[in-house]
Amino acid sequence: MTTTETVPTVRRAETTPTPSLPPFGQFIGGAFVASTTGATVDVENPATQEVLMQVPAGSVEDVDAAVAAAVAAKADWAAKTPKDRSAILLRIADIIEANREVLETLEAANTGKPAAVAEDDISSAIDTFRFSAGAARAFTAPGAGDYAENHTSVILREPVGVVGVITPWNYPLLMAAWKIAPVLAAGNTMVLKPSEQTPLSTLKLAELIASEVPAGVLNIVTGPGQVVGNRISEHPDIDLVAITGSVGSGQKVAASAAGTVKRVHLELGGKAPVVIFEDADLQAAAEGVRSAGFWNGGQECGSACRVLVHESVADRFTELLVREVSQITVGAPGAGDDVEMGSMISGAHYKRVLAALEDARAEGLTIAVGGNALEGPGYFIEPTVVTGVPAGAPITSTEIFGPVVSVETFRTDEEAITRANETPYGLAASVWTTNAARSLSAPRRLDFGTVWVNSHLVIANEMPWGGFKGSGYGRDLSTYALEDFSRTKHVMYNHG
Ligand code: NAD
Repeated sequence: MTTTETVPTVRRAETTPTPSLPPFGQFIGGAFVASTTGATVDVENPATQEVLMQVPAGSVEDVDAAVAAAVAAKADWAAKTPKDRSAILLRIADIIEANREVLETLEAANTGKPAAVAEDDISSAIDTFRFSAGAARAFTAPGAGDYAENHTSVILREPVGVVGVITPWNYPLLMAAWKIAPVLAAGNTMVLKPSEQTPLSTLKLAELIASEVPAGVLNIVTGPGQVVGNRISEHPDIDLVAITGSVGSGQKVAASAAGTVKRVHLELGGKAPVVIFEDADLQAAAEGVRSAGFWNGGQECGSACRVLVHESVADRFTELLVREVSQITVGAPGAGDDVEMGSMISGAHYKRVLAALEDARAEGLTIAVGGNALEGPGYFIEPTVVTGVPAGAPITSTEIFGPVVSVETFRTDEEAITRANETPYGLAASVWTTNAARSLSAPRRLDFGTVWVNSHLVIANEMPWGGFKGSGYGRDLSTYALEDFSRTKHVMYNHG
């Protein structure tokens, strides 16, 4: 396979959109307040390398103040009827919708993602709030019944209490919405720490909804994971901590949480296999990988980053995939609605992805298209396909989290399934086939929390999202998230 003729360049915006920035401060008790420290973190636009603003590098005392506000608000919020909580969540959805452009521009400026991805993020966040608003009202416990003589059992579904949430940088507002909506729907109050690299849209959301949400119900503390995230994880008055992030951070959160035996909810990394059988529609599969492998620049936990294709169709599929990938338009925010891929999130991450490509070259793998950094400013990398990947090569199990798709081949169905499962992760996978029997059997044998058939990365708010194995446990979205963020109590009445 040879590199195609088109060399991607970064399309630049004629005028860079100016984002509307949030106020400076921590959002505690319904207002933006000063941090207890003067330390700040620079928040960068990764497509221009300009500093957008600074946010407080929060302290243990800031977390403690936020937790105290959440504890104070707990009883009133829990006592609201599902109908009343639902009404507030619906108003949040309306406010996000009314401020869609503000949030999209800000999200794109803070992440370098293109308009298409920012729009999808905000639309999905709106839908998450609307779904949770409905689910809050429809979510019921089993009916009362007698299971011991002369005793009637009733199940009360209660909020867990105060929930700590730690979010990543790849979909800052959407990952916050995935937690805020079900956590509040289930009647909890919360303290949320956004990624230190991408706190702006979460702070902006707090500013926009401050008058709708009672003070103390939602608190936001910015700053580094080792300080703010760790304090949230260990805090004695936080009843459950949920993190979306890397496996390493998830392990640290779970270890810190163990001291107070609080509940833990982990949405961690992924390395999604894309199993393409010889009977698959190869063009559809190539288009699917173009979209799902490079969405958000591959900085996506369910990214279609690891293709396993039957050896009899591997050459044809690779040719189609390389053609698709070489057509991907890379651009800065504001450079057009047809831009498919933006920058990497930071200089550090850009270096990590380029180092992974160097490792691939050093191992003798073939870079069929892409493989290089693009001209700055900004942290742009070419959409890349790596071929000639032997079974067990590091690229088959290490999460690169960038615009890099690797292609391996297999001979038998048994081998395909065994090798697809040979990863420490278990978040998502896809199967491409026109054979009905395979479409039924393969998903059952794949050890991943989501398995798509002839599709990849399509997400619905009604359906759960979450992993097995190293990808963690707990579910986002769907009524399963409401279950995770609530607790059941058995009350038994003696009527004898
Ligand atoms: P990260 O682990 O570096 O950071 C995630 C969050 O954890 C940040 O807010 C960070 O400050 C915080 N953190 C870091 N160390 C901590 C500690 N010791 N204690 C408490 N908090 C700490 O992850 P990232 O680089 O922001 O995001 C990318 C990772 O997230 C990838 O591995 C990706 O697969 C994963 N991710 C998973 C999902 C999912 O749904 N499973 C979704 C998005 C991202």
